[in-house]
Amino acid sequence: MTKTDVLVLGGGPAGMSCAISASRNGSHVILVERDAVLGGILNQCIHNGFGLHYFKEELTGPEFAHRFRKMVEAEKNIEIRLNTLVTKIDEGKNSTGIVEVLGANGFEQIQAKSVVMCMGCRERTAGNINLCGTRPMGVLTAGTVQKMVNIDGKMVGKDVVILGSGDIGLIMARRLTLEGAKVHAVLEINSTSGGLRRNIMQCLEDFDIPLYLNTTIFEVVGKEHVEGVYYGKVDEKFQPIESTRKFLKCDTVVLSVGLIPEMELSPEVEKSRVTNGAVVNEFYQTQKPWLFSCGNILHIHDLVDNVALEAEQAGKYASDFAHKKLPSTAEKIYIKAGSGFSYVLPSIIYEGAGQVEVKFRLKEKVVKKTIVAKCGANILGKKYVLAGIPGEMMKFSFEKNGAKGEIELQIE
Ligand SMILES: Cc1cc2nc3c(=O)[nH]c(=O)nc-3n(C[C@H](O)[C@H](O)[C@H](O)COP(=O)(O)OP(=O)(O)OC[C@H]3O[C@@H](n4cnc5c(N)ncnc54)[C@H](O)[C@@H]3O)c2cc1C
Repeated sequence: MTKTDVLVLGGGPAGMSCAISASRNGSHVILVERDAVLGGILNQCIHNGFGLHYFKEELTGPEFAHRFRKMVEAEKNIEIRLNTLVTKIDEGKNSTGIVEVLGANGFEQIQAKSVVMCMGCRERTAGNINLCGTRPMGVLTAGTVQKMVNIDGKMVGKDVVILGSGDIGLIMARRLTLEGAKVHAVLEINSTSGGLRRNIMQCLEDFDIPLYLNTTIFEVVGKEHVEGVYYGKVDEKFQPIESTRKFLKCDTVVLSVGLIPEMELSPEVEKSRVTNGAVVNEFYQTQKPWLFSCGNILHIHDLVDNVALEAEQAGKYASDFAHKKLPSTAEKIYIKAGSGFSYVLPSIIYEGAGQVEVKFRLKEKVVKKTIVAKCGANILGKKYVLAGIPGEMMKFSFEKNGAKGEIELQIE
């Protein structure tokens, strides 16, 4: 059996950043990626907007990936396994991980002191959202369309309707318009877009593509191929308002209706009902001390820079655990997301001194509010938010300051 200190599963930006950090913190690392190249989803994101925080430059996805790839290759302590699929993650003796991979040489078992899950996420499909109507050709997820157009050089259709206004949907609205298609509308069931403000401006407004809020597809129409959609407004319970039903002729429906962390291979650990990722502590450690998680498999990020920074920390902690340097004896403090938050991460920290950084998403848009971290009557920190939207992942640092039991985030 092959042995290593830190085994990193998935070679996207999270996996690469995590592997570099673990190696620089003194560990031998094996980095496993099922594709023929490192880079993950970035390889198909040919638009710019990556790296503004991390590299202080605006890069395309492939450029961002290339820089990380070079850094990974420069690390002597990282063994890269490409074209290698992770098939099983198990617990071994003495709190180690045993991972089965299938590569060029067949099956292999790797035993690691720490295992970091960096396998990203996958898209919700028509089946996942119970999209009504027939099942003709021409209903595609945004990531699939992105791969077909940007990597395979294949156009998907001429008259497009996009369901969901998350960042991928917005970016594909612009991309398909630039490739000559007519994007008739982006339909969003919620009252606000799930995407970043800059993407709404640069991808829809600049191209006069309408965004219809509180609106969804009632029914897809078409036998062999998509012929159009019935769409209309929804009420506050997301039920179709039949009196608003209209027909829109199109040959392609692009779905950008959310991403799901790739947790299928994870051993039994507690999961968040909101993010669908593992519940982790401030060290990105799951319930199984040897198993760590970061990047989109943990929670869906809007910016790759945040993925790289999170994975850098996770890589350090995984390396510390491999060398028995990670504290584990202090009492736990649970962090609770109060009303108005969709989630907060991590949900467990340890008693003691020092700063803690939490990440959170809001349920609804807030303007000129203060986020407060409270432990009973004790205020640990405050953050003023001029304007915050659900599409943006936000960060907040505060001092632990002797907190015990539970810390609650509140909006005031
Ligand atoms: C369309 C789109 C547009 C975006 N635009 C921007 C933008 O403008 N700016 C920005 O900052 N961010 C953007 N992002 C976000 C950013 O790209 C992601 O947050 C980031 O790529 C997530 O990194 P990750 O490493 O967690 O996941 P991924 O990049 O998905 O990497 C996961 C890797 O794990 C591998 N893997 C999965 N399962 C296995 C397995 N069983 N065995 C082996 N390997 C496996 C996959 O092949 C993949 O390489 C965009 C994302 C998308 C999808």
